[in-house]
This record gives sequence, structure tokens and C-alpha cells, in this order.
Amino acid sequence: METSLVILKPSAILHGYVGQIITRFQQKGLVIRGMKMMQLSEELLREHYAHLVDRPFFPDLLHSMMASPVIVMALWGNDAVEVVRIMTGATNGRKALPGTIRGDFSMSGQENIIHASDSPANAEIELKRFFSPDEIFSYLPTSLAYTYEPAEMK
Ligand code: UDP
Ligand code: MG
Repeated sequence: METSLVILKPSAILHGYVGQIITRFQQKGLVIRGMKMMQLSEELLREHYAHLVDRPFFPDLLHSMMASPVIVMALWGNDAVEVVRIMTGATNGRKALPGTIRGDFSMSGQENIIHASDSPANAEIELKRFFSPDEIFSYLPTSLAYTYEPAEMK
């Protein structure tokens, strides 16, 4: 099992899509092991989006990500990082397929509703960036035996 870091961006908060997005993750079978609202700082965003700081759109991205508080989530499951990325869809909402979160809620390359970790290694780094250890809860939902076959719960 692994955990992915998801951020419900200001474009999700300000449109009022929070409930619909969380519902999608829960009905898929991902388990919420951490969740909180926070206001992102420029310092934290420069670290989180370090691969983009030299791009011309970075000032706009900073502004967009600080437009309101965000909700950060730790989602746990088998292959959680890959599953969440598939559910997220392509970066540009206009190119993202219907049925994906960006495909169903976004028309933009920047205002694209959520962030999702892109690899298990980055998920570990990002979880530490946004959560302290006591904010992650290792409970097991009673439905787990009907979510996975035994061999999948590793
Ligand atoms: N982004 C943008 N313009 C671009 C590429 C990316 O504004 O041309 C923003 C967009 O919000 C995206 C974020 O920067 O979600 C991170 O970019 P990345 O390439 O890591 O895409 P993601 O992993 O979010 O699909
Ligand atoms: Mg990325």
C-alpha cells in the first residue's frame, strides 16, 4: 500500500467543488489518512514547484495557488499514486479526458483544480512537506476486505 499527496487548489475551493472531489476519491476506495485546510506561502510553493520556478508563468501560478486556502489530503491505497494520477487527468483541463477530475471540472492549464503526486518517491517527499507525522492516521476502514482481494493488501 502507498499514500499520495493531493492538494485541492484554490480553483476547487473557490468554485465549491470540494465535496464532489472528495466523494470521487472515497467512492473509488481510497482512504483519507490526513486532511487539513491551509494557506500556502510563497516559500512553500517555491519548494513544491521548484521544477517550474524559472518558467514565465510561475508568478501567475504563485498568485493562483495563494488565491484562497487549499485543502491537502493524504490518500492511501494499493498503487494510490498511480490511481490518483489517472483520476486527475492531463495537466491542461482542456486536454484532460472526460471522467477525470480535470476533464470534468477544468478548462485551464493552470486553474486545474487539484495537484497529485507524480511518483511514489515524490509522494513521500510531498507528504512530509505538507503534513507532520501526527497528522497522518493509520486506521483501517471496515470496508477494506471488500475493497481488495487479500493479495492486494500489501
Ligand atoms: N502549470 C501552468 N502552466 C503550464 C504548466 C503547468 O500553469 O504550462 C501549472 C499547473 O497548475 C500545473 C502545475 O503548474 O498543475 C504543475 O505543473 P506540472 O507540470 O507538474 O503538472 P501536474 O503534475 O500538475 O499535472
Ligand atoms: Mg507535477
